[in-house]
Amino acid sequence: MSSKLLLTPGPTNIPERYLEILGKDIIHHRTPAFRKVLRETNENLKKVFKTKNDVSVVTSSGTGVMEAAVVNFFSKGDKVIVVNTGYFGDRFRKIAEIYGLEVINLEYEFGESYKLEDVKKALAENSDVKGILATHSETSVGILNNIKALGDLTKNTDVLLVVDTISGLVVNEFDFDNWGVDVAIAGSQKAFLIPPGLAFVAVSDKAKKAMERSDLPKYYFSIQQYEKYFEEMNGETPYTPAISLILALHKSVEDVVNKGIDNIIKEKYELRKFIEEKAKNLGFELLVKEEENRTNTLVSIYREGVVIKTIISALEERGYTVTGGKGKYATSLMRVGILGEISKEQLEEFFVVFEEELKKQLG
Ligand SMILES: *Cc1c(COP(=O)(O)O)cnc(C)c1O
Repeated sequence: MSSKLLLTPGPTNIPERYLEILGKDIIHHRTPAFRKVLRETNENLKKVFKTKNDVSVVTSSGTGVMEAAVVNFFSKGDKVIVVNTGYFGDRFRKIAEIYGLEVINLEYEFGESYKLEDVKKALAENSDVKGILATHSETSVGILNNIKALGDLTKNTDVLLVVDTISGLVVNEFDFDNWGVDVAIAGSQKAFLIPPGLAFVAVSDKAKKAMERSDLPKYYFSIQQYEKYFEEMNGETPYTPAISLILALHKSVEDVVNKGIDNIIKEKYELRKFIEEKAKNLGFELLVKEEENRTNTLVSIYREGVVIKTIISALEERGYTVTGGKGKYATSLMRVGILGEISKEQLEEFFVVFEEELKKQLG
């Protein structure tokens, strides 16, 4: 099997140092050795989310903890605002509706961030709102939503701020405690550079109280169970976790902390700027027009008259995996992900191949 360069917003290529761990025999999850690993991982995850509370590690893809972020903190009929700026924001809406929440759906055009005025208005007109569900980095578009501004609205109220930062964490600024976030979720296959299968849930004190009142059905995704086992068993999970992945995560989160989030953000920012320049030089436009609304997770580009789908298929043949758009952008948008450990040189080579394929189409 030839390996491809994954220029995708997760999963990423797995660095050798994690593959080594993943290829080893495992340990049992009810042992002192495992507990130590999970406790150390938790300490580092707290530094990554920037929170004083423990972070639960759940064996699931990201969507599982999106569901957990709804069923653990709300009750049937609760009214929530969904800040819907793309495909993943819409997934939050669907989950909330399926569990019988009343959703105020603030939906925006692809490429646009939310408008703070709309959220303020919805809060003012609905004094019974229990939560705001928002996406930090909207992967389907390349949008970075301002979470701090939402936290300023919910901070000294009973409204919970629930944030999907699955593709946003590590590569964009995020400050759970200081921004007043109540629930934040992330996943292993994004900026943690290990395979899919683990997801993380950070919970504020305010959200812990809501968790006690919540009456929505839950079993596997009951975060109280994860907290109980972590505390009472000194670093265990309620059910058999993906042990191999946790062993790799232990190293990966340690690497993130040692490297420093600020350094990683700077590195990704520079890669993003590099891609933006290269794409503009090839006549492409950026889907997200405002610099402040662009995530360091990926770059979304399009060019009038170019059927990007064909080019994406050709690139796949030539060793590069990039992704297309969704919905009305299904054939025209290309998303270049930069979460993985990639260099400018690799991107340089990618753009040479990209330009060749583009020329074939333009004739
Ligand atoms: C990847 C991702 C998810 C979760 O997707 P899974 O496929 O379930 O891991 C959710 N939200 C965002 C913003 C994502 O990028």
